[in-house]
Amino acid sequence: MSQSKPRHAPLPDFGVDGDRLLVGGIPVDRLADRVGMTPFYAYDRRLLGDRVGELRAALPQEVKLHYAVKANPMPAVVQHMAGLVDGFDVASGGELKTVLDTTMPTGEISFAGPGKSRDEIGRAVAAGIVINAESEAEIRAVADIGAAQGVTAKVAVRVNPDFELKTAGMQMSGGPKPFGIDAERMPQVLSSMAGLPIEFVGFHIFSGSQNLRAEAILEAQEKTIELAGDLASHAPAPVKTLNIGGGLGIPYFPGETRLDLTVVGRNLANLMPRAQSLMPGVEIVIELGRFLVGEAGVYVCRVVDRKESRGQVFLVTDGGLHHHLAASGNFGQVIRKNYPVAIGTRMRAPAEESVNVVGPLCTPLDVLSQKVDLPRADVGDLVVVFASGAYGLTASPTAFLGHPAPGEVLV
Ligand SMILES: *Cc1c(COP(=O)(O)O)cnc(C)c1O
Repeated sequence: MSQSKPRHAPLPDFGVDGDRLLVGGIPVDRLADRVGMTPFYAYDRRLLGDRVGELRAALPQEVKLHYAVKANPMPAVVQHMAGLVDGFDVASGGELKTVLDTTMPTGEISFAGPGKSRDEIGRAVAAGIVINAESEAEIRAVADIGAAQGVTAKVAVRVNPDFELKTAGMQMSGGPKPFGIDAERMPQVLSSMAGLPIEFVGFHIFSGSQNLRAEAILEAQEKTIELAGDLASHAPAPVKTLNIGGGLGIPYFPGETRLDLTVVGRNLANLMPRAQSLMPGVEIVIELGRFLVGEAGVYVCRVVDRKESRGQVFLVTDGGLHHHLAASGNFGQVIRKNYPVAIGTRMRAPAEESVNVVGPLCTPLDVLSQKVDLPRADVGDLVVVFASGAYGLTASPTAFLGHPAPGEVLV
């Protein structure tokens, strides 16, 4: 074989010990024994720290780095991130509870997401965090609840811009959207806020997710800063913070390459003087979920049966879409592609057969990898699915078919 085309997306260096993949420095089969079960998710602390370090080195120093907790809300991960990033963004009362249990200062926490309940708003106001208001009704609800509690609630307004993040995996802006208030309505909304008993702190403009093209990210960031600058003149108070979203993607599929952070950082540095001239003293925040945690996590399951059907090999594992919907291709993918996988107990063996890795669910959707070249694996071997640190366990239908939930460990 003289092929040079990579079989899967680039991976971070977990390390190997003999035939076994290391996760957090521990051989994966040993880790399975330590967790006491398969399947399980494992997140590598060192890789989480390395990723934040790479970002800090590339981004302008004055840009604040927030972690969007919905990507991975495991309490141990969130506490670990509390020591690495400058703030948290949450999107539910449940996530709010998790972050309030960490050492992150409450002033560095913000709460976005449509449809916040009065209960969630009440808890957020009492906690003293920033509420990213998604609608006019929500702004009024925050003002009412704050008044009732005797607290001046901090409010940033989420804007639905009139542009989108091009080539993003998920569009979150442009056109009609449930997120934020349409940019063209903002002048009116901002002037109506002047009389309310709230503290206006700034804007939140998040235009999309999972982008691997630095130029598209630059374009969205530039437009975001210009839009915020335009709106600032209508605001009831100076813009203290501008959350410009994130959208930095990670490579998942064959042929995808890493985003060039140097380019993203340089572009952003070039935008800083403009941001300061439009909004003097403004603090720029980027919020990242999958980029911070996605590549640091693996999902590990065990081969429980090996069978052949009409010329194809099926490795049947104890893990599947009920734990890892995204790897099965059913979480926002249009065309199913394989996440990077390996036989974690045969890292030195050459790939010698094309196999389908499937789960135990009685549905043809329960596929972890299709026609992937792997070393020969038998019952008892461990299959590792990489790029599983974000939108894994909590984005999966664990109750489907009534199998046990997977383990979860930070190492
Ligand atoms: C989901 C979400 C994020 C995180 O997106 P990633 O693609 O994981 O970086 C950030 N901000 C908001 C408002 C979100 O809804």
